[in-house]
Amino acid sequence: MTATLAHGAAAEHRIGGQRVPSRHEPLPVEDPSTATTIAHVPRGDARDVDLAVSAARAAARRTRVTTPAERGRLLRSLAAALDADLEGFARLETGDTGKPLSLARSEIAGCVGYLDYYGGAADKLHGETIPIGPGSLAYTVREPVGVTAHIVPWNAPLSMLCRSVAPALAAGNTAVVKPAEQTPLTALRFADLVEGLDLPPGTVNVVTGLGAEAGAALAAHPGIGSLTFTGSVATGRAVLRAAAEHITPVVTELGGKSPQIVFADADLDDVARQVVTGFTANSGQYCDAGSRLLVARTAHDELVERIVARLASLTLGAGIEDPDLGPMVSAEHRRRVSDYVALGAREGATEVGRRRALPGPGHFVAPVVFTGVTPEMRIAREEIFGPVLAVLGFDDEEHAVALADATDYGLGVGIHTRDIDRALRVADRVDAGYVMINEYFAGSPAVPFGGTKLSGTGRERGLVALDSYLKNKTVVARVGPATQPHATQQGEPS
Ligand code: NAD
Repeated sequence: MTATLAHGAAAEHRIGGQRVPSRHEPLPVEDPSTATTIAHVPRGDARDVDLAVSAARAAARRTRVTTPAERGRLLRSLAAALDADLEGFARLETGDTGKPLSLARSEIAGCVGYLDYYGGAADKLHGETIPIGPGSLAYTVREPVGVTAHIVPWNAPLSMLCRSVAPALAAGNTAVVKPAEQTPLTALRFADLVEGLDLPPGTVNVVTGLGAEAGAALAAHPGIGSLTFTGSVATGRAVLRAAAEHITPVVTELGGKSPQIVFADADLDDVARQVVTGFTANSGQYCDAGSRLLVARTAHDELVERIVARLASLTLGAGIEDPDLGPMVSAEHRRRVSDYVALGAREGATEVGRRRALPGPGHFVAPVVFTGVTPEMRIAREEIFGPVLAVLGFDDEEHAVALADATDYGLGVGIHTRDIDRALRVADRVDAGYVMINEYFAGSPAVPFGGTKLSGTGRERGLVALDSYLKNKTVVARVGPATQPHATQQGEPS
């Protein structure tokens, strides 16, 4: 890690193209694989946030004179610059989060994908003309909202940043980012990458710090045109309340308790692979982790047996050694996940498979499978955000759909069956934002992602995500002499 961390002084915000030091005691950043401090970052406050919003506003004024085609080219250059430094970013992300190096590489490659995709969209954003009758001209214009704010979680730090910052920039905005206090390092390095390109200084600003301080100040700031919040439901509520003061539009991307539904006709060997990946990838710390397995009772025992067999061969270790599973992000989070494992036993679920020795001294948790779970148990309803699978049996399709919808979340749903009619029927019926048939985690920057119910209101990825970073303006004009009747007179005052 030494080489990557030697890159610049991390204990400074990135504001307006400048490195701004902390006014407070800097915050330590830990490598969760080793439980050692690897860097320090500033503990930002409301003044830092204010400075960043001003810098972003100044940059937004300059961005408005850039042509959309030029903006697209710049975003694609940013993608190329990130791609050229993919290994450096991946190693930094691994040190900061503990995630396996291959996973970090694929997440950074995903970031390159977001920048490329939205770079291609930048010059294809336009309004429409609406024929409302003779003597009238009506058209809409899609304008940037100005300064966009992005509050980012720790589980996939740069990926979550790029997922919302790329469309925000493509739409002609500038950004202020507040990364999670646990994992701020790649955001700082990303700001440096942006500053190295021919973009106005302050196009991407990064203020590090605590959620209750820098995060809260950003959510409550009157100078932001939109806020994208990715994180927990509890914080999502606080952010929505703060944003309400200035009627700031908010995209919320929150938690999940996503089921994989397995019918008896599925290829159980392939499904076992996908279930294991679904709940152990990133050590279960993905919002759309497949943390519930809903399986036809007739296939239950055989599938559980195959899952347990696969788990036995998974490796646990420091992210940089590229194991199958790295640690939890922090000691606090490991305690939280371990408490849920203890709760599962108290609730009467059965833990299957063998416990394994854990590597030390990082924050490791071994994957756990619970069978005999009922929908009322907390381990069946609450997001654990660790490698814990709750298995529930179902009798028929009706029952499967009811179980799938039996939580307050509605993010991902996996469906496994060879019967495409059944798959599409179930996809149609479940209350969730993202359905994956026969391939869990299938996706691309081009397909919208988001949730229903407590999983949030936003849609990120795809062209639809651009709507969150654009204001719609309608222009209606009378054309021709005033004496001539024209359609606009038929409009109702509102
Ligand atoms: P969190 O809510 O604790 O923190 C998220 C961010 O909010 C951090 O940057 C934090 O500093 C900031 N924050 C905390 N308190 C704040 C406040 N009062 N005001 C403003 N900002 C504040 O979430 P986390 O633990 O970092 O992330 C895990 C959660 O994120 C899980 O629930 C996961 O499902 C969710 N998540 C959702 C998606 C999605 O797309 N739906 C993607 C990734 C993660």
